[in-house]
Amino acid sequence: MTRNNGINNSILELVGETPLIKLHKITKKLKGSYFAKIEAFNPGHSAKDRIALHIVNTAEKKGILKKGATIVETTSGNTGFSLAMISLVKGYKCILAVSDKSSQDKIELLKTMGAEVHVCPANVPPEDPRSYYEVAKTIHKKTKNSVYINQYFNELNIEAHYRTTGPEIWKQTEGKITHLVVASGTGGTISGTGKYLKEQNPNIKVLGVDAIGSVLKKYHETKELDLNEVSPYKIEGLGKNLIPTATDFDVIDVYEKVSDKDAAIQARETLKKEGLFCGYTTGAVVQATKQYAALDMFDENSFVVLIFPDHGSRYLNKIYSNSWMQEQGFLE
Ligand code: PMP
Repeated sequence: MTRNNGINNSILELVGETPLIKLHKITKKLKGSYFAKIEAFNPGHSAKDRIALHIVNTAEKKGILKKGATIVETTSGNTGFSLAMISLVKGYKCILAVSDKSSQDKIELLKTMGAEVHVCPANVPPEDPRSYYEVAKTIHKKTKNSVYINQYFNELNIEAHYRTTGPEIWKQTEGKITHLVVASGTGGTISGTGKYLKEQNPNIKVLGVDAIGSVLKKYHETKELDLNEVSPYKIEGLGKNLIPTATDFDVIDVYEKVSDKDAAIQARETLKKEGLFCGYTTGAVVQATKQYAALDMFDENSFVVLIFPDHGSRYLNKIYSNSWMQEQGFLE
């Protein structure tokens, strides 16, 4: 995709080519230089525009998505927004199964975008018929002429970032990048971007960010799914209670886990110190970067790129609400 200064044919032409911005105050005490890839500059305000557009375009090319079709997906909100936006532009119906952990703002937003939204409990196993995976599968089976995007198990999710996010970062940093720090949910962003960058320079370290309460870090270390790791947490879009095939664990060097509290505080700090109004997982990425720095991961020559996945406007009633922060015990 190209961002050109003339007339664009539709909003979808503005997906990708997001800016890289140097961080100053938030990373001041850390060794090395730090840069944020601001995915909120996508028209749907998150990195998910990239995968949604790539998966829909590929389905059209293969003849799977036909006129009047329905797009079905499970989503924590951002992929849903992207798919709803794409559906409006291209004339598809959009049905989304959403976790009840998603903020009310996000759910309202999806409805405003014309999507049909089914809210499902977050704290049930993935194979439970009430889980958003099972609900989406059932809707897909029952709806004629429908396509299930299946972002957790779709290799096109990795490919979208391999083709766009990776090359953009390589070009923007003129090949100087030494470390990439990325939040891991489906794993598409970290796997696709990391794979491309390591192909350009195998010395680049790919540092994953996981949530306390998720299985990804332990799985990366042991190659075994340990459900004892699972506990409820508040950060949306980070970590998982299953192993997504959209994660290529071989690309990832190491994971750090972050807490709900630390991630929320760092998101607020990033806004205050850098003027970047960012989402909850951005706070997780900043917190993890600080944890990696404390583990001596970086030195004066480190050129560290952090991917900031989405925009703060979706969390006004969560991390940016003082009363919500107090209810969680996150503010002293
Ligand atoms: N941050 C947010 C806000 C997200 O919605 C997601 C997607 N689940 C991620 C980070 C993680 O990205 P990925 O799914 O590519 O691992």
